[in-house]
Parts: sequence; structure tokens; C-alpha cells
Amino acid sequence: MDLIASLDRKLTALDEQSLTRRRRVVDTPSAPRLVVDGRPMLAFCSNDYLGLAAHPLVIEALREGASLYGAGSGASHLVSGHGRAHELLEERLAAFLGPHLESARALSFCTGYMANLAMLTALGADADAEIFSESLNHASLIDGARLARASVKVYPHADLDALAALLEASNASAKVVVTDSVFSMDGDLAPLPQMLALCEKHGAWLVIDDAHGFGTLGPHGRGALEHFDLRSSNLVYMGTLGKAAGVGGAFVAAHASVIELMIQRARPYIFTTAAPPALAHALLASLDIIGGDEGAQRRAHLQALIAHLDGELTPSRWQRPVSTTAIQPVIIGSNAEAMRVGAGLYRRGLWVAAIRPPTVPVDTARLRITLSAAHTHEEVTQLATALNELERTWDESQ
Ligand code: PMP
Repeated sequence: MDLIASLDRKLTALDEQSLTRRRRVVDTPSAPRLVVDGRPMLAFCSNDYLGLAAHPLVIEALREGASLYGAGSGASHLVSGHGRAHELLEERLAAFLGPHLESARALSFCTGYMANLAMLTALGADADAEIFSESLNHASLIDGARLARASVKVYPHADLDALAALLEASNASAKVVVTDSVFSMDGDLAPLPQMLALCEKHGAWLVIDDAHGFGTLGPHGRGALEHFDLRSSNLVYMGTLGKAAGVGGAFVAAHASVIELMIQRARPYIFTTAAPPALAHALLASLDIIGGDEGAQRRAHLQALIAHLDGELTPSRWQRPVSTTAIQPVIIGSNAEAMRVGAGLYRRGLWVAAIRPPTVPVDTARLRITLSAAHTHEEVTQLATALNELERTWDESQ
């Protein structure tokens, strides 16, 4: 009983700080209009940025993949789990991103979290290596850096001077700069061209986590690499496949030697069962859409919705940092107030995630609005109207 009581005390402490998280059960496919716990809702919290999770061609490809390859892979990639569909997916991804990388090769993973652990433990394997990590990086990059033997230096958000000074002072055997491209809770972009120039000057890797850029940025959806027109053999790129690509999984694309090192050495790659090959088969259909005319149209619609939201939201008591991506934060401040604003929207049938520490820094709890090409202008207006009204009447309603 004492064991359980000590856990319960921890849970109570979380509750007292408004930090308890709760899962809701979704009964319908990922789409703006959902049934949640039995109730119809309009959602602005999914990362399905292009609306591909419920796309008929992707669903059909998943069915076809299951018929061709079965339900599961049965083993890890280095035993018998590496299926033809995984191989084709990796070839397609390497060709897709090839214009931006030298001797490009890609490696697929079950999740982006694991891809980041694998990438950083492989590149930062030696104790005399150094990882330079941006302060707002995603948890999976932070955990990957912790798991690596390299020492870790954190530089402040978007502070190129601080990064330059750290690189200048370093005499590490391997230097690895790692950053989100689109910051997942703020929606802003890292200054990647300047960072790449610094990395090339100092012989450092530039590891880019493009979880929120792959598929959504660039004329062909090649993400931050295409958006900034980057090209270098110093680049190591991680893209996720459960967000804009609408299915699940992730990949690392880089010079073939980086990929070969990961296959040989990265424990989060080696010691886990490969994803079902049917997912890789479905992802080939997603990539057809992302790289084709339909993908371009979906990205254009998404950009129009981002501009529309910006125009509809009135200036407010709650701060809205500049973001030109599908991630549109509204900073509320306190955990409890962020939860109350989220609940106010929820009562109006609108589902927006309220994000609290440790996901974001203390006192910056926020609503994280995410837009998708599957939204309509009217739906975005509906959200903006509700948020404007909540804000206008906030003091009286509290
Ligand atoms: N990196 C970033 C920036 C992310 O936002 C996420 C997911 N939220 C991940 C990595 C992890 O990807 P996955 O969900 O595929 O594990």
C-alpha cells in the first residue's frame, strides 16, 4: 500500500499544479470533424497537416499493403523484418530528398522519437563528441542527446551568436548541431541557412528534425530542405511520417555513410521490431500525393487558411507569436487559465490542445492551434469567432 500511496502523492501534486493530462477517446478517422467520447467536435489539434490520414487512396494502399505483406513484420530490420515495402519506401525517400543531400540514402523507423534516439546516439557515440542542442528542441532530441555518450551544450532559442561561440570553443572529435526546423510548440522556423554555414565552417553536422515541415514546406513538400534550398553533405535530416504524411513512422535521410553507421550501430534501430510493411506501402501512396499536384494544392489551401486565421483573430490579451506555419500558438501563461480557455472552447464544440510544462517553459502554457488542409475557411472562422468572444468576455466569465 505504501508503494501505491507514494505514487498517488505524486499524482495529487500534478493535479494541484493543473498538470494532470487526460486522454480523450476518438471514435472516427482523423479529420477536422470528429466524434470524441461520443460527441461531435471540430478539432484543431491534429498534426495531419495535409488531411492524408483519411485520404481514400492512402487507406486503400494500407488495405493493399496488408494483403500483400500481412499484418506485421515479424522481426527487426536486421533479422527478417525488412520487407520489400520498407526498401521501396527508403528508396523513394532518398530520391525525393536527393536534390538536397549528397549520396542520399534513407532509413525508416517506427516513430520519430526512435529515429531521433538512433540518429543522436550514432552521431554522438563517442565521449569526446559534442552535441549542440537548441533550447526549444523536441523532447525526443533532448532524450537522444542524453542517451548519447557525447557531452551536451544547450544554446538559447535561435541565438546564432551563442551557437557560433560554442562551436568556436569546441575541440570535440565530432560536433553535432541539432535543431527542430519548425518548432513544435511555437511554429517558428530555425535560421537553417545561417546554421548550415556555421556548421560547414566548423566541420559540424547539422541535424534537422523536420517533423512539422516534411510534406508541408517547399513547393514539392520536401520540407525545410526545399523551403530554404539547403544542400550539403553535413546535413542529417529526420522527417516524420505520422503527421503530414498521414500514416505513421519516420525516416532519417543523409549521406549513405551516416545511414550505414546507423544500421550497424544505432541500438534504437537494431533492437526493435520493424513497423508493419503495410504502413510503408501506404506511405508510398502518401508520397505520390505529397510530391504531386494534389499535394501542391493542399499546401496552397493550408497557407490560405493560415492567413485567414491571422486575419480573423482580433488583437488580444493573449499573445500570439508570429508563425507562418500550420502551428499557431496562443500564449495564455498560467496552466490553470490555459486549461480554462481550452475548456471554454471545448464547451463550444471546438477541440484545441492546451499545452503545459514540461512540454513548454513554465508560465507559457498555451493553446496550440494546428490547421490542416482538410479544414475549410468557414471552420477557421468558427474557431476565431469563438476565441475572440471568449477573450472579450474573459474577465466577466471568471
Ligand atoms: N520531433 C518533433 C519536433 C515532434 O514534434 C515529434 C512528435 N510530436 C517527434 C519528433 C516525434 O515523432 P513521432 O510522433 O513520429 O514519434
